[in-house]
Amino acid sequence: MESPLPKHAFFQGKIVSYSEAKVGVATHALNYGTAVFGGLRGYWNEEKKQLFVFRPHDHFRRFLHSCRLLLMQFDYTPESLTEIMLELLRAEGYQQNIYIRPLAYKADEQIGVRLHDLTDELTMFALPFGQYIKNDTNATVMVSSWRRIDDNMIPARGKISGAYVNSALAKTEAALNGYDEALVLTQDGHLSEGSAMNVLIVRDGLLITPSVTENILEGITRRTVIELARDELNLTVVERPIDRTEIYICDELILTGTAAQVTAVTQVDHQPVGKGVMGPVAEGLRKLFNEVVRGDNPKYAHWNVAV
Ligand code: PMP
Repeated sequence: MESPLPKHAFFQGKIVSYSEAKVGVATHALNYGTAVFGGLRGYWNEEKKQLFVFRPHDHFRRFLHSCRLLLMQFDYTPESLTEIMLELLRAEGYQQNIYIRPLAYKADEQIGVRLHDLTDELTMFALPFGQYIKNDTNATVMVSSWRRIDDNMIPARGKISGAYVNSALAKTEAALNGYDEALVLTQDGHLSEGSAMNVLIVRDGLLITPSVTENILEGITRRTVIELARDELNLTVVERPIDRTEIYICDELILTGTAAQVTAVTQVDHQPVGKGVMGPVAEGLRKLFNEVVRGDNPKYAHWNVAV
């Protein structure tokens, strides 16, 4: 999957041309994975001729929490990061769907594993971005043989660069075995999440998702979908541990994430999920979500920041 490069980046405190935003090979974050990142989407609304970024305040709040987990000191706030993002996007002038990547990293070019007494830098770039999971109405998944990192190993609650090796192992195992995605279990065998997306199941009319203590990333899309399910579809949402075997007997299986958006899974470990086709909850949530992120639902307009 080849994507075009950005024209600009926010780098060392200002917007520069993308080719100037470079780090040396000895950079701490490159060697030890000591970086954290975020991932936001901007949706181009063709009728309104407007680019809307989805829930940037919530994304930057989580991003700054990830920074804290790696002992990074910044004066940035969700508001100031939103301003930087808007400046960057205005420089880029995108009129299409995009992905925005803030990245904070230990910038020193030296040897020595630690988090303290290092210099923290922050960069941001944005690039055109389309669908992430091709079969988003009929995805196939496998339960990965890799287990999810634990809060006391590398906290999954933080979007920590080094921790994404865990996600990459699961994703590649699934892809090489012919599946669209992986589901990853916790050390004690409960469902945690996908390689880079949260998971929800429908059982007996309830929408159930692993709670935030199940080594998940606390997804903004997960939170969005929970709110839409409760308030718009009148569903009861339960956050609790999910056993592996529940995914083989559930009625629907749904993946959520900035990249994955709202994806319906119709096959898990070669077994059909429910009737083997996208179910009504996934369909309803997808419709609502697509309206909301494009700025076409006035009730949720506070989640959209116009560029
Ligand atoms: N889990 C992981 C491991 C992720 O990388 C992501 C993507 N950021 C998600 C869940 C979904 O989070 P969000 O909805 O905030 O994008």
